[in-house]
Amino acid sequence: MSDLPFLPFALPEIGEDEINEVVDTLRSGWVTTGPKAKRFEQDFAAFLGEPQIECIAVNSATAGLHLALEACGIGPGDEVITTTHTFTATAEVVRYLGADVVLVDIDPATLNIDPKLVEAAITPRTKCIIPVHYAGLAVDMIAILDIARKHGLRVVEDAAHALPTTLERELIGTMGSDATVFSFYANKTMTTGEGGMLVTRNAELAKRARVMRLHGMSRDAFDRFTSKVPSWYYEIVAPGFKYNLTDIAAAMGIHQLRRVRAFQARRAELAQRYLEVLAELPVVLPPQAPEGDMHSWHLFVIQLKDSAGLGRDAFVQKLYEAGIGCSVHYVPLHLHPYWRDRYQLRVEQFPHSQYAFERMVSLPIYSLMTVADVDRVAAAIRRALGFSQ
Ligand SMILES: *Cc1c(COP(=O)(O)O)cnc(C)c1O
Repeated sequence: MSDLPFLPFALPEIGEDEINEVVDTLRSGWVTTGPKAKRFEQDFAAFLGEPQIECIAVNSATAGLHLALEACGIGPGDEVITTTHTFTATAEVVRYLGADVVLVDIDPATLNIDPKLVEAAITPRTKCIIPVHYAGLAVDMIAILDIARKHGLRVVEDAAHALPTTLERELIGTMGSDATVFSFYANKTMTTGEGGMLVTRNAELAKRARVMRLHGMSRDAFDRFTSKVPSWYYEIVAPGFKYNLTDIAAAMGIHQLRRVRAFQARRAELAQRYLEVLAELPVVLPPQAPEGDMHSWHLFVIQLKDSAGLGRDAFVQKLYEAGIGCSVHYVPLHLHPYWRDRYQLRVEQFPHSQYAFERMVSLPIYSLMTVADVDRVAAAIRRALGFSQ
């Protein structure tokens, strides 16, 4: 047992600027989607280095993925290809639209979706690919976009882990897919409590997503209430959703976004320390971004080698006893009853995801941690694996 306080698996870093902006919003008289959400969208476009790119703030990444697929026209009879090695939100949105999910395995070197398997899974019904930048390491988007172009498919990126992540020095969000969706859930690389951002260069897609974000209304509430002319009138053009981000949440987002590069720098420093102090242990270390590129380090996932002589579950238990929170990302979709039964999935179809799942552990990594915290985690790992201090 450790005398140190428990080290949580994840914690948000929320500063006085976020708090003051939320208070300002509360005092302003406008608490739902309005000027702060608009500013957050503009700031996000500027962050991506493209003031003209369309950024649509939503109340979760799940909502953003749903809107993106809906705007791509995905529906019953269509197939959408994604990775089994992800959170269920990536795939559930396909089912919301009555389309079918086709799961493929990962590349064991990156834990990201394997483009070769994507191409092999294409059928005449395939309409879309959803790559997931797992842990914050960019998917090979060159290969994915190539396959999509060749077969006339749409691409919606699940970038819930990938702010900020680069591929060939370009930020994820600017790769040229149909849409990219970021998450601001509490444990992501920046947070608004709950929230997300849909990013696209396609004006038609953006228009549809904006309408469907708010009930299928032709004009949003802020436009109507702040118009100089009486403007109670609106039209419903589709049975839309309730996916708008509140100004209270956007107030946090404006300031979190300003700090997201500093957060990444801290995470990268912690990751470097982990890579050094775990180097001699019987664990597979996570893949790094190529030289010159950025890994968001949303997750730091190790895999226990069989020579570690200790199973994953016992390992997690020992770390908890040492006062250290860790987690597993994720139970792959092919093991969940819904996905397994719906598509009669077998473990043998996903050997690499299965192999990684059985051995993997996500270690704590977030901007409020110090290098000393990493050293404490490493010491607990050494003890758990039977190495002396
Ligand atoms: C967190 C997460 C989501 C969902 O994000 P929300 O903002 O909670 O809806 C989707 N995909 C992946 C890979 C995630 O980790």
